[in-house]
Amino acid sequence: MRAAVLVEAGRPLEVRDVVLDPPRAGEVLVRVAAAGVCHTDLHLADGRLGEGRWPVVLGHEGAGTVEALGAGVEGLAPGDRVAFCFVPSCGTCRACAAGRANLCETVLPAAWAGTLLDGTSRLRLAGGAPLMHFNFVSCFAEHCVVPAASAVPLPDALPLWQAALVGCAVVTGVGAVRNAARVAPGETVCVIGCGGVGLQIVAGAGLAGAGRIVAVDPDPAKLALAAARGATDAVPAGPEAVAAVLALVPGGVDHAFEAVGQPATIRQAWDVLRPGATAIVVGIARLGAEVSLPALELLSEKGLRGSYYGSAHPAEEIGALAGLVAAGELPLADVVSHVTDLEGIEDGLARLRAGEGARTVAIMDAAAAGRD
Ligand SMILES: [Zn+2]
Ligand SMILES: [Zn+2]
Repeated sequence: MRAAVLVEAGRPLEVRDVVLDPPRAGEVLVRVAAAGVCHTDLHLADGRLGEGRWPVVLGHEGAGTVEALGAGVEGLAPGDRVAFCFVPSCGTCRACAAGRANLCETVLPAAWAGTLLDGTSRLRLAGGAPLMHFNFVSCFAEHCVVPAASAVPLPDALPLWQAALVGCAVVTGVGAVRNAARVAPGETVCVIGCGGVGLQIVAGAGLAGAGRIVAVDPDPAKLALAAARGATDAVPAGPEAVAAVLALVPGGVDHAFEAVGQPATIRQAWDVLRPGATAIVVGIARLGAEVSLPALELLSEKGLRGSYYGSAHPAEEIGALAGLVAAGELPLADVVSHVTDLEGIEDGLARLRAGEGARTVAIMDAAAAGRD
């Protein structure tokens, strides 16, 4: 099959012939229909998440059709349409038992090692050199082998080119609103960064009934998209953004979300909070980045926390959110700014680097994706 391979950080992706071994016990083979190009792929491609993560087939947000099952897989059948979930929680570790399956301790070592759950890879170059998986998914490819728990069945009504976004951008953004911040009707919200994930935070805040949603971004086009998804106010990003938000919501907001992943914007999320409120960081910072806070302000009971992958049981949340999208309550078509193919993923990464466009979706199987 063909896949977009990151040979080494800092080099463009190369579309290569790749060997994909059949699924082993507990795994499924999926024909990829569509994959979203996410900032986390860019971080890894640019080497910001540390060494030793390549050569690898990137891609962790996508959807496709199940083609074959490994031994012992239940609840899935060939032909099933699925979205990928990149934390195939074990259900039994301390985190899973505590209701925090997104932080599953069993899957994390394999995710960092670039293998599937048994510690081995199904991917190699045509010449035999081994390739790493990325977060169990590696969907910048025509096919992928994933743990069964990484394949979440989808409602029939949901086109796969839209479903592709549910397993990362949507669950990360809407989950942060629902499960980390628990935004209540009438509360005020500030969203710093309105890219693929930030726009989902805006939509999630709207669904939660937030009274005022202030969107902050340097790009007027993204602010317009945020307005279309329920933002009540738009503020240009930059050093003046905090003052502008506080002018709109005197005293500070009930919830601030940071979806950029930079120390300066994390600090801004803190600075726009009212006393007693908590800033939720969803953006992924580069390895080694640090944030400084005015320590005295801790007395005002402000808080700062992260939210990873929806802060709930990821597969259950993906299923529930796919239902909301299929029911028309969470429109996704408008956030897909660019549609491309395997060869065009590298340009999608370049657009992310430049902050251009909301989301690139690569179509690997146009008929299955609903884009033929
Ligand atoms: Zn992602
Ligand atoms: Zn677990």
